[in-house]
Amino acid sequence: MFNLNFIMKKILFFLITLIVGLTIFSCKKDALQESTLENVTHQQEINNDEEPHANYSDEDRKIINYMIENFNYSIDDIIVTDEFIFVEGDIMYPKGKSFWDNYTSKETISRVHYRSNYLVTQITTIPILLHNVSSDWRNAVIAAANEWNNLNGSIRFSVNSNPNHSTTVGINLQHYNYGSNMGHIIASAFHPTSSGYPGNMMYINDDYNGVLTASDKKFTMVHELGHAIGFEHTDGNHGSSITNVGWWCRTFSNSSSVMVAALPVGGWNGFSSCDVQAFNALY
Ligand SMILES: [Zn+2]
Repeated sequence: MFNLNFIMKKILFFLITLIVGLTIFSCKKDALQESTLENVTHQQEINNDEEPHANYSDEDRKIINYMIENFNYSIDDIIVTDEFIFVEGDIMYPKGKSFWDNYTSKETISRVHYRSNYLVTQITTIPILLHNVSSDWRNAVIAAANEWNNLNGSIRFSVNSNPNHSTTVGINLQHYNYGSNMGHIIASAFHPTSSGYPGNMMYINDDYNGVLTASDKKFTMVHELGHAIGFEHTDGNHGSSITNVGWWCRTFSNSSSVMVAALPVGGWNGFSSCDVQAFNALY
């Protein structure tokens, strides 16, 4: 049997729900109008650190940008609530770790700058002691130290070629036999310690001496010095992400970063603008 009163109430309730729903939706739409990320050029990486969707947390923003880049959604079709991310009205994605675990391929998770647990806090000039280092690598580490020093941060490197000294507070650089299992390594370094000093040793694999150009060697030393003062790999997703940089740098891939884990093919090409921001954020 029809209950007309009941049906009328249902219709009225539906209409009110619809109106309230549309109002909320259009408010959120308005908030998103300015956030279109289309036509963002590389130049804006340097000049435009305006936040396109300031209301969202860093974690939400990373997911939104991942969805735009990889799922081809439009920013206008994405709405973030406390619990979920809605796309095109009715498709739902989880937030946080559950999104990354279930809807992304592990290799492409956020490529931003990362730091290790500890930074250099106890000294401002970091001595680099060279232990029988060949002249080509000596030139490379001197040039690399200069590149970091030119960023004018709160720490500096100072290369000391006196062979009779080691340093307990700085970096000891020497050639090293990695053995057959680790033969793919060109050079390596320690991270800073819990005492606030830089990684104490840096090693060079002599097998690559004849393969790498002077510029490749310089790039390699810039990269290893980066590890020694606390940088993790930019594309590694390990350590803690460096968040006090512009939104571009903490959101998008920084594939031109000197801290990307890659062979130094093509030689030294300078720091990326995000490298500079990340260094300034730490030092
Ligand atoms: Zn590395």
